[in-house]
Amino acid sequence: MALGGLAAVANAEAQQPVSGLPTFAGVRTFVGAPYVPGCVTLQADIAILGVPFDEGTWGWPGERYGPRDIREGSQDYKQFDLKDGFYYLDRDQHVLKGRRWADCGDVEVSPTVPAATNDRVTEAVTRILAQKAFPVVIGGDHSITFPAVRAFSTPSLMLVHLDAHLDTWTSAPGNVDHSSPIRRAAALPSVKKIVQIGMRGLANDTEASDNARKLGTQIITTEAIRRKGLEWAIAQIPRADNIYLTLDVDVMDPSVTPGTGTLEPGGLRFEEVDEILTTLPSKGKIVGFDVVEVNPLRDPSGRTGQTAARLILDFLGAIFH
Ligand code: MN
Ligand code: MN
Repeated sequence: MALGGLAAVANAEAQQPVSGLPTFAGVRTFVGAPYVPGCVTLQADIAILGVPFDEGTWGWPGERYGPRDIREGSQDYKQFDLKDGFYYLDRDQHVLKGRRWADCGDVEVSPTVPAATNDRVTEAVTRILAQKAFPVVIGGDHSITFPAVRAFSTPSLMLVHLDAHLDTWTSAPGNVDHSSPIRRAAALPSVKKIVQIGMRGLANDTEASDNARKLGTQIITTEAIRRKGLEWAIAQIPRADNIYLTLDVDVMDPSVTPGTGTLEPGGLRFEEVDEILTTLPSKGKIVGFDVVEVNPLRDPSGRTGQTAARLILDFLGAIFH
């Protein structure tokens, strides 16, 4: 090889993006996306925002480590160049080709002052939307959904809520906990419809179900999905102009996502949740989503964070193609 050839190879290697590193190397951002602290100046189609917050939990704490676990779990899907998109062998197809990514890092939390943290979540999502990027919020316990949805002024928003739990409890007056974000979100002027999928088992009492009934949410239990099939369940989801998805990873079976605060046996399989997510864009425009309740302190295997990362990528692929 001529000297010029070697120099060209060395030059090409020097230009390798950080995402070309092996999975164990490099600073952790979601799939190696460029780090844009605070999403101050975004030139991106997709913006990842971490909310390391678990002060809303009634169960096991540790969801504050969720964002960094999901980022860690995403390293297996890191690409040499994110512009190439992601390849599926099954369909011999690329998705997300040419899409521009940013990881905005984590929202600044104020421990023991949840209202201040919530305000920063709303501010950050508002900033992402103002710069025409698509927000992907990674939690954190489920209480962070309310401040995230609050950022949308979109009229006729349909909330699609995947969870084992209704999250419509009354709880203590003025609470901002993870047992009531759906009740709070229902009161937002933008939210016109709520579909709750995967509710199951003994996890939901009459306080939560009475509240859900009063709010008029549409409930599709996991047991109903077992009786009537997934296709039936997907057909039940109505069309809407704008859809926000909130995914509590405990909607899946504890064997799939053991790293979460509130386990309930008999959950959905990965493939079922994946199917719901990838068909959801056919129901209307997806305007944003969050993935919550990943608790790595209960899952040393890391499978919960990786499963969350994979669902995020599959869903984004279906939204953007
Ligand atoms: Mn929940
Ligand atoms: Mn739950």
